[in-house]
Amino acid sequence: MKKTIVILILTAMLFALTSCSTADNSSKPLVYASFYPIYDLTSKIAGDKLEIKTIIPPGVEPHDWEPSTKDVANMTKAKVILYLGLGMDSWIQKIKANAPNVDFYEVSKGVTPILEGGQPNPHIWLSPKEALIMAKNINDSLKQSFPQYSNYFDKNYETLKNQLEKLNQEYSHDLSNTKHKTFIVYHSAFDYLARDYGLKQEALVGIDEEAEVSPARMAKVINIIKNENIKYIFTEPLSSPKPMQTIAKETNTKILPLNPIEGLTKVEEKEGKDYLKLMEENLENLKKALNT
Ligand SMILES: [Zn+2]
Repeated sequence: MKKTIVILILTAMLFALTSCSTADNSSKPLVYASFYPIYDLTSKIAGDKLEIKTIIPPGVEPHDWEPSTKDVANMTKAKVILYLGLGMDSWIQKIKANAPNVDFYEVSKGVTPILEGGQPNPHIWLSPKEALIMAKNINDSLKQSFPQYSNYFDKNYETLKNQLEKLNQEYSHDLSNTKHKTFIVYHSAFDYLARDYGLKQEALVGIDEEAEVSPARMAKVINIIKNENIKYIFTEPLSSPKPMQTIAKETNTKILPLNPIEGLTKVEEKEGKDYLKLMEENLENLKKALNT
């Protein structure tokens, strides 16, 4: 009985999927973006001319993600794949070897990387200044692979560029005269933001958020909070805030979210949030933490 129901549901889902994909696939060329921020910026430039998909699904933390055989097979069907580089999506090499007909573009090209233990920190999208470079790279890439839509892409890119420049001006202005310069986060995701806007990030763990928090690091961060009289510390939506809760208790600080925007949560997706909205929210919370 149960089995029949499952089969019925699966058949219904399959029908729904097939009808969906025939409806919106039409004849639009397929472009893959490795993870959310690239997906969102690309969608804004591509408008209705291309079908954009993210490789890493929403709500999934992208640092340790690896493609399945099925993912690899799907990606070889794309016309274009946009990836970040800087070690964030190094699995792309595996896809490259299997997809001789796909155009690959590295979106971080031209960014001056911050090195951490000899490795580049990949989190460039969290600084509007670097996001401007990403958007330009994406526009150039799309124009190279789809020259027939060049004017259309350029128009959308101009709109996006203006929005990012406005965001950059807000960050520069609002973060230039804050009471504190140091902010406390879980993983080392805001290095470019700190560099570009004159702040200092103190992270509990490095680039890899799966890493274990060391008691020495914990003690050091607690000391910084006490010495600098910091009132708010930051957690992120896709990783466990437990060590941050311990610190908050220990130092009598409050917790605010600071989003590394590595993948949308289901809730954020439902609320229609996008890169620009989340960056505005990050700025609001930074202002609150740095001015209290
Ligand atoms: Zn990260």
